Parts: sequence; C-alpha cells; structure tokens
Amino acid sequence: MNLRIPGPTPCPDEVLEAGAQQMMNHRGPEFAAILRRVTEGLSWAFQTSDDVYSISTSGTGGLEAAVVNTLSPGDRVLSVSIGSFGDRFGSIAQAYGADVEKYALEWGDAADPAEIARRLDADPAIKAVLVTHNETSTGVTNDLETIAREVRSRERLILVDAVSSMSSIPCPVEKWDLDVVVSGSQKGWMVAPGLAFVYMGPRAWEAYESSTMPKFYFDVKRAKTSLDKGQNPWTPAMAVYYQMDRAFELMRAEGLEGIFTRHADIGAYARERADQLGLTLVPTDRQRASDTVTAVWWPEGVDGKAISKRAREEFGVVLGGGQGKLDGKIFRIGHLGFVSKEDVQQAFDVVERLLAEQKASV
Ligand SMILES: *Cc1c(COP(=O)(O)O)cnc(C)c1O
Repeated sequence: MNLRIPGPTPCPDEVLEAGAQQMMNHRGPEFAAILRRVTEGLSWAFQTSDDVYSISTSGTGGLEAAVVNTLSPGDRVLSVSIGSFGDRFGSIAQAYGADVEKYALEWGDAADPAEIARRLDADPAIKAVLVTHNETSTGVTNDLETIAREVRSRERLILVDAVSSMSSIPCPVEKWDLDVVVSGSQKGWMVAPGLAFVYMGPRAWEAYESSTMPKFYFDVKRAKTSLDKGQNPWTPAMAVYYQMDRAFELMRAEGLEGIFTRHADIGAYARERADQLGLTLVPTDRQRASDTVTAVWWPEGVDGKAISKRAREEFGVVLGGGQGKLDGKIFRIGHLGFVSKEDVQQAFDVVERLLAEQKASV
C-alpha cells in the first residue's frame, strides 16, 4: 500500500518493530529512560530548551489541552480559520465557554497577518489568538512567523495547531516566540496515532495560573509534576513511546535541516506534477502551498471518488479526499514523515493514468 493520506502516515519497519516490544512498568526506571529520551527528542524537534509534554490522546486532545490550560470561560479569543482544522480549534474554545471571534477565510486562502493585527487593535480585550500553522484540509501553510510577530507585539497569547507541520517544516517555537504549540504523533513523526505533544512557553504557564477552564486528564501541571519523576500522570500509550524512541534515532540521523529540505523538495515536486497534469491547486497563493500535503481540485466533470476507489483497489494508492464542503471535489496527497519522492511520484502516476482512462471512456 502507498498510504498517501495526510495522517496516519506510514512507519518505517524498524519503528514498527520497536512498537512490538513487551510491556514494562510504566512507573519503573526503564520506562523513565524512554520518556526522558522522547521528551529530549521533542524539545529538539520543537527547537526549545523547555520540556515538551506528551499526552496520550490524538491531536485534537492536544488542541483541547492548549485551550483549557491557558484560558477561562468568557475570555475573548480570536479564532483564525482557513479550513476544517481551524474551525475545530475555534469550536473547542467555544465548547469551553470562550467568547470566540471568528476570522474565517475562503478555503484555499491563507490568513492575512495584517488583518489579524487590525482585529487585535480593534479589540484590546482579545486575550489569545488560535491559529493553524499548516491547514491539512486545504494544503495551505499560514505565514506563522509574521502572524506571531503581530500577535506578540500586541502582547496577546498565540496558541498554535502545528499538528501537521511540526517535525516536517520549520516551526521553531522559541525563535518565533509562540506560547502554546501542539502536534500529533501520526503526522510527521513516523509513528502510530496515540500521542499529542504540547509545548507551553513561559507566558502560557503564567496564563495557566489564572486559567479557570475545567481540566483534569489534560491538566499540563499534572504532566509536568509527573515528568519530573520520569512518569506520565496516567497510563500512557506505551507502544507509541517505544516507536517514538526509535523514530528519533532516525530523525536525528537525518537532521532537522535534512528533514526540512526533503519535505520542501517533495512539496515542490508534488506541485510540479499537478501543473503538468493541468490541475489546479486548492491553495490560491502558491507561496503558501504546503510542503506536507498537496490539495488539488478534480477537474470539472471528473468523478474523483471513482478514481480514488480505483487507485486504492487496483494500484494500492490511498489518496486523501476532501473534508466537509470539499468532499468529492478535491484530492489530497500527504507527503510528511516517512516519505520519499518516489512515493509521491507513484501516486501522481496513478492519478495521471486514471484521469486519462476516465476521459477516454466518456
Ligand atoms: C490531524 C490534524 C489534527 C488532529 O486530528 P486528530 O485526528 O485528533 O489527531 C489537528 N489539526 C491538524 C492541522 C491536523 O492535520
């Protein structure tokens, strides 16, 4: 199978084998060593000297942790959404009683940092900005560095969904002065689903002290207290930790710069192939097209679902579909984590062939 959805992503064999190891005492010294190495690996990938907390949940749980640990019911929040994951982040804040102002863009567009600045100036009560770094549903990467500069210069918090970007494309949390940053294990980390990673900067910890949103399982203070003892507060997804431990050896061998370059090269290649096929990218500004997932419109009159079905059944290529209102209208090719140019090449070869065949049959 050539699994080309943008998560869960394929795992290297050695990572799969590492996950098949026997269970151990999750409060014993062997697991403490694994947890320490994985936490060091996370700090390396997030480019911070602070600990990054790993919570046994999916990426969405990580987003929930970002919200409940820094905000209080009634807090004014600016939710920047350029697609379905941006909508989700805002919905979580709303569910916990935040007073959410939405800045929603057409799907395919990137957020305008100047518009975010304008809205923050217009409403000094806005305490935090929620923003998606890489919007997986549309294949658009926001200009997070510039957005963060606008938010930070106005002294508001910036909470970032970096689920499908962290470890694949640059997102240095300290250099960009981000407050809370979340990722998830099944995206660019070459391991199975089951862990979310949460970075909390100094201002986020300050906000934690006054935050009154209800929290228990996702309370980062509990994660911090336990980590200081080499433990998780609850029984963790141990097999995923075993995998992470091995995946970090592979990632460190390639190096962060090497990983970023590989993703940039493959992203450029994917866009080139879409061009060659005469297809239109979902991102309206090519400069903001993602290097971890490429989203492409099916041409008018093409039955995209039929092509995806044939790609899977006859060629073992699993394409991502469209989410929400893009269902049936686009396809997505994930290229993050354990991916080579050949994987993406084969996927586009199959799309090319099936598009030609469908055209010939009508
Ligand atoms: C995958 C993803 C999530 C989280 O999804 P889960 O299914 O909860 O892991 C959140 N945001 C983005 C941008 C994603 O790509």
